[in-house]
Amino acid sequence: MLKGEGPGPLPPLLEQYVALRDQYPDYLLLFQVGDFYECFGEDAERLARALGLTLTHKTSKDFTTPMAGIPIRAADTYLEKLLALGFRVALADQVEPAEAAEGLVRREVTQLLTPGTVVEESLLTPEANYLAALATGEGYGLVFLDVSTGEFKGTVLYSKSALYDELFRHRPREVLLAPELLENEAFLKEFRKRFPVMLSEASFEPVDLEPTLAPLALRRAAGAALAYARATQGGRLAPRPFQRYDPGAFVHLPEATLKALEVFEPLLPGGKTLLSVLDETRTAPGRRLLRAWLRHPLLDRGPLEARLDRVERLVRDTPLREGVRRVLFRVHDLERLANRLLLNRATPKDLLALKRSLEALPELKKMGALEHLPDLLPLAEEIGAALKEEAPSRLSQGGLIREGYDPTLDELRARARAVLDFLARLEEEERRRTGIPTLKVGYNAVFGYYLEVTRPYYDQVPPDYRPVQTLKDRQRYTRPDLKEKERELLLAEAQALRREEEVFQELRAKVAQEAERIRGAAQLLAELDVYAALAEVAVKRGYTRPRFTGRLRIQSGRHPVVETQGSFVPNDLDMTEARVIVLTGPNMAGKSTYLRQTALIALLAQIGSFVPAEEAELPLFDRVYTRIGASDDLAGGRSTFMVEMEEVAQILKGATERSLVLLDEVGRGTSTLDGVALAQAVLEALHARGAYVLFATHYHELTRLDLPRVRNFHVAAEEVGLEGGLVFYHQVLPGPALKSYGVEVARLAGVPEEVVKRARLLLEGLLAGRGEGEKVLLELLSLDLNRLTPLEALQALKRLQEMARGVLV
Ligand code: ADP
Repeated sequence: MLKGEGPGPLPPLLEQYVALRDQYPDYLLLFQVGDFYECFGEDAERLARALGLTLTHKTSKDFTTPMAGIPIRAADTYLEKLLALGFRVALADQVEPAEAAEGLVRREVTQLLTPGTVVEESLLTPEANYLAALATGEGYGLVFLDVSTGEFKGTVLYSKSALYDELFRHRPREVLLAPELLENEAFLKEFRKRFPVMLSEASFEPVDLEPTLAPLALRRAAGAALAYARATQGGRLAPRPFQRYDPGAFVHLPEATLKALEVFEPLLPGGKTLLSVLDETRTAPGRRLLRAWLRHPLLDRGPLEARLDRVERLVRDTPLREGVRRVLFRVHDLERLANRLLLNRATPKDLLALKRSLEALPELKKMGALEHLPDLLPLAEEIGAALKEEAPSRLSQGGLIREGYDPTLDELRARARAVLDFLARLEEEERRRTGIPTLKVGYNAVFGYYLEVTRPYYDQVPPDYRPVQTLKDRQRYTRPDLKEKERELLLAEAQALRREEEVFQELRAKVAQEAERIRGAAQLLAELDVYAALAEVAVKRGYTRPRFTGRLRIQSGRHPVVETQGSFVPNDLDMTEARVIVLTGPNMAGKSTYLRQTALIALLAQIGSFVPAEEAELPLFDRVYTRIGASDDLAGGRSTFMVEMEEVAQILKGATERSLVLLDEVGRGTSTLDGVALAQAVLEALHARGAYVLFATHYHELTRLDLPRVRNFHVAAEEVGLEGGLVFYHQVLPGPALKSYGVEVARLAGVPEEVVKRARLLLEGLLAGRGEGEKVLLELLSLDLNRLTPLEALQALKRLQEMARGVLV
């Protein structure tokens, strides 16, 4: 029913509205009424609230209901907002001209819009727009479909954390959950908390996938994505062949790492990201590909060297790089164009954009930038021969096909022109024939073409004129042959318009036959774009080519993002012998930056980019882990310490001798003793594992670790003046920091002088007494009771007792 008031039945228009609306219960139905899309009843209230529109009322004789609408001319802006707000929208358009309708105009749902399936360029950003589908079986079957490009891929994941990582990486706009997941309340609750995206329902009928051995969960998810997307596209969909991928074939970058390294999103709003520094791409497919590379860095040297070769060539050859980037600037989003061709949705403007893009290809070939480009120039020529350069965006406007392209069309146009010529000459001829100097030929919508005579000449009107309209001081006439000509004109024009449509459809179909080759070209261009972008960044920022020697040695490394924001002190890192570096130094000295820059350099190298360093020798890392302070998850209801330990647990489970692990202030979330003990235990375990570990800490106790492959470094800072101000040098030097500078930093931060003084005093007392006490406890904690022989146990006890005595006296 429709929310409203009044005793009477629904007026027919609203009845039609309700009937359509009820067919699409999951959608907000926008109902065309003339120049507006309207909603009525409760939906009107929702729409008005969502878009901040004024609510009016639709009132008939004895029924009234709320009404709100948006002008169709500005629909895109509103639709974009609605999708962003998480609405699914159904557009019900008038499908016959109002004049032609007997009674109520017929309306049909012509488009279903959902965030994860839109293909309208006006509603999309250049980024990939993923619809995800998730089903369970032996693992999670996860599928991504980008309806706007046809990209279609999926994977099976065997843990929830792997699942979340993969979802986080792809940022789907809409997710389809299989019934078993929708019914699982615990799962649903956690899922919603982690991914505030739109969840939709679909039928999870399995489809066949190549290779056919794909697990059921994957086939169900793929089936759901296809079925759902197809339904929104009026049955049409042009997915590329399904690609099953294995996240294990790429460097493992957990969500926490991507976040902490600010690869795609800044930690603080408005901040810069690695992507924003790298993104010198010139085309949307290039930008999407760069993102894809960052999502999935490579494990193997071969393909990385191949990428680096391509980048290096563009780094060295400046004219080539500049030429390529200049040409790419003119290339449109070929991926999406090809997709719209396959969906039969390409507009005349799309074909022209395609033509201009294809025309750029030979230039790239000539420069030697690309070799295997398919030859699509004939296609561009065909489009150019058919379409006028300034073709209208809508087919129905006509006037888009060039003269001389289609004989039938030319003839129809000639016929129309002949009539127009006749009409143009008619005025002159009739004036001569009748001797009426003011005689005019005119046109209006009601009477068509007419001859007009003013009052003084009424007696000169010839007998073949038939009056049709009398005005105050003039009469309008028609003539049998005039009616005939008019019919001829209208017919020729209508036929020409229809023929134009036909010609355009034929052209589009012809071009669509090449869609796969266009996709192929798009792929090559996207790669070229990324290489050129990476080369541009390398030149602009002075990056060098990394070498995969198996050793970790970085000379004058920099943080790719921080260095763009001011002067930067480069630092070295040499882990040829070491596996664990314990980095101490006051707050704000640059510990965290040093950790991150190391991981970022590794990450850049493993997508095939040059790196911000004078020289970089690297191993091929299999995983990059980070546990970096501040990433609270209070919204998730878990304590900071709990989150910290969960992340630590993940790291300990996953890290291998080829992993890079960044630990920043591990153990801070609990009491000092707990914290130190845990931190030490974690370090020892990772040391035993042989992982590359950079550990930034306040705990001076940890600088006394006595393990063969642990090294101490500190970030230089100096106290100056009597008041103990701090100067940061941001320089990483061998050896531990002499002390913790917490109190100094508090002072810098503006903590009142008396509090700082008091803190210093207290600290001195504490250092005198507690330092030793802590040592005893640490010693005690470090005993592995399972392995101690009774004799060793006794010796340890004796030692401890002696130490304890030392503290107490
Ligand atoms: P910490 O982890 O020791 O508290 P951070 O790494 O967060 O310190 O660095 C503190 C600030 O110092 C950062 O905001 C950064 O801008 C600056 N900084 C860090 N390292 C450098 C460097 N090598 N050169 C210049 N500025 C730096």
